[in-house]
Amino acid sequence: MDIKDLQRENIKTLKPYSTARDEFKGQASVFLDANENSFGSPLPANYNRYPDPLQLDLKDAISKIKGVPIENTFLGNGSDEAIDLLYRAFCNPGKDNVIILPPTYGMYEVSANINDVEIRKVDLLPNFQLDLEKIAEAIDANTKMIFICSPNNPTGNSINRTDIETILANFKGLVVIDEAYINFAKQKTFIQELTEYANLVILQTFSKAWGLAALRLGMAFSSRPVIDILNKVKPPYNINQATQDLALAALENIQQVNDWIKITVSERDRLSNLLAKLPMVKKVYPSDANFILAQVDDALGTYNLLVDKGIIVRDRSKVSLCEGCLRITVGTVEENDELIRVLTPQPPKGG
Ligand code: PMP
Repeated sequence: MDIKDLQRENIKTLKPYSTARDEFKGQASVFLDANENSFGSPLPANYNRYPDPLQLDLKDAISKIKGVPIENTFLGNGSDEAIDLLYRAFCNPGKDNVIILPPTYGMYEVSANINDVEIRKVDLLPNFQLDLEKIAEAIDANTKMIFICSPNNPTGNSINRTDIETILANFKGLVVIDEAYINFAKQKTFIQELTEYANLVILQTFSKAWGLAALRLGMAFSSRPVIDILNKVKPPYNINQATQDLALAALENIQQVNDWIKITVSERDRLSNLLAKLPMVKKVYPSDANFILAQVDDALGTYNLLVDKGIIVRDRSKVSLCEGCLRITVGTVEENDELIRVLTPQPPKGG
């Protein structure tokens, strides 16, 4: 399979935007090519200049942590941007289709709708695993991508590794594995499989374990042809200089991040146990992520009770297969205690 053949027709011949600096940066000291303010910036010195379009310093630092070469790494304005660019680069509107596996992360569908690309939904099985037979039936010659979220949002479980491997071995389009929550999972990343499958795309993000949701920085790891195509269609300066600088600084703090991951996982397990003991909680689903899906007697009532007490969770009760469920992010120890306190029925006041 040639990845280039998967591209959307107009992208095959797209001439990407280029700058004079792409070619000659190393040789020059005077930059009069990009209509910037040559005098300076009211902020840090280099902010008057456009940022490195390929973010090589940042990718180099990420590569040291992830073990993925920089030419196999794409950075997006959140992984949401990578999702959108995958549609724009690979899917012909009105012709191609993609497969999504509900209940799952909402942006796969929203991005498809924005890009006018047909989606084919194959529900997860009641145990939130893949329905391989139905997936195989849904695939046709125009199926360009399949989105597998593992650990899955909002259900929290990891998808069986052998099922994902079956899809990788058989599907000719792009297999996009969204590993936004991988740092909290017992299951290990598919990064090691990148060298084996040119059509594997792995999404990860700095928004969850890394605690940098506000910076908007997501990663896509894939084969060279996929990364080259994403670079061709991305906006020229999609990762701003402040994000590049701050993310580089953050990467020095991996120990802190690893400590938070440990606490989050232990709090997830403690909170799951406490939730399971509450009378209004019917079921707590096992989680490999930093949130818990819990089925309660009266989801809307419980949601509103929490809002009244200043606690916001995510109401997923209308989502198919998640009927009656709330999705609860694991908070700090104090926040989790507060949640349980608010949800614990008060004994009637004696008198
Ligand atoms: N993938 C999944 C599964 C998510 O849950 C989210 C955010 N909720 C994202 C991607 C988006 O991540 P980012 O902040 O990097 O755009």
